[in-house]
Amino acid sequence: MKFPDTSCRFLFVTAVLLPAFFSRAEVNKAEQIAPDVYFHEGDIQGHGHCNNGWIVFEDYVLVIDANFPSGAQEIIPKIKAITDKPIRFAFDTHHHGDHAYGNQIWVEQGAVPVAHTGVLEEMKKYETGYYGGKPGRWEDTAKGRPDVAATQLKPPSLLFPKEMIFNDGKHRVELHYLGVAHTHGDGFAWLPKERILFTGDACVNGPYNYLADGDTGEWVKTLEAAKKLGAKTVCPGHGSIGAGEVLDDQLAYFEALREEVKKYAHLKSDEVKVAVDKIKADLQRNERIARYVGNGLAGQVEKVYVEMGGKPFVNKQAAVDEHWRHAAAHGRELAQRNGSSFLADCHPRRRGNDETRKNDE
Ligand SMILES: [Zn+2]
Ligand SMILES: [Zn+2]
Repeated sequence: MKFPDTSCRFLFVTAVLLPAFFSRAEVNKAEQIAPDVYFHEGDIQGHGHCNNGWIVFEDYVLVIDANFPSGAQEIIPKIKAITDKPIRFAFDTHHHGDHAYGNQIWVEQGAVPVAHTGVLEEMKKYETGYYGGKPGRWEDTAKGRPDVAATQLKPPSLLFPKEMIFNDGKHRVELHYLGVAHTHGDGFAWLPKERILFTGDACVNGPYNYLADGDTGEWVKTLEAAKKLGAKTVCPGHGSIGAGEVLDDQLAYFEALREEVKKYAHLKSDEVKVAVDKIKADLQRNERIARYVGNGLAGQVEKVYVEMGGKPFVNKQAAVDEHWRHAAAHGRELAQRNGSSFLADCHPRRRGNDETRKNDE
């Protein structure tokens, strides 16, 4: 049994394919989006970083997402430039490295990592090295990321089963678990007064969806629940900040993807694999969701097809994954050599199809 590879997968995307939406994003810049509330779009292209948020309470700061260690180190000075209040809590929206591997950095600042109980369960499943088993995702990621190699995994120690509320009379932040989505432990941070929602990777704004640790059928329901909150501002896990419609677009993408795959669900996996280009073209025709269609579509189609009872694609996809694994270690050089820009889908990768195949057997 092999374990998933957590090296960031770097996707090559020519700049012309990127919608104008992205060029407006101000990466690596702290943006005040409401009094005492900040958003910071992480540099996914260069460093695989996730987006962050932070809320300055009366006596402390709550940070949304721990990021990779280098991502945490990137934003700590920016928080300190804004406030001298201590950073007390770092909320991991889920267990992936680009959202939780920076926990140790925050702990060194005096903060406590907070998460839904499902995050700890996911870590016990995938971080086998930390829990005394064979090397897991952390160890795999450390091979390609010096920032991870230089620190250590620190699972969240303040856990909530359903919700947790921070409320000092001036600010209220509710952490919610709304169901399975991108993983089995996604948490949302909801600011009811400002109507701002931090979604982690349950909602992204661009071609950053990674499906292998979640379930798209449940994901759709979870996004429906998130929509009911009535957010005016959505701070996604990756990609630009947007209005409430970003949630609708993300939901529409999964509905369309599932609908497309369903048309082929009765076919053999080889036939579905051949249909990926057609599915891609069909999805891209829908302007509202075209920006979600990326080079990882074959893996997404495969995942949904398996959820609908199909067998995993064989060999070819595994080879592609291996290619990207290699690219992850040399991503920057490779991108420069090819003269294209690249995006990092900085999520754990399966080695081939072992994970889904294992489930299938
Ligand atoms: Zn992420
Ligand atoms: Zn993720």
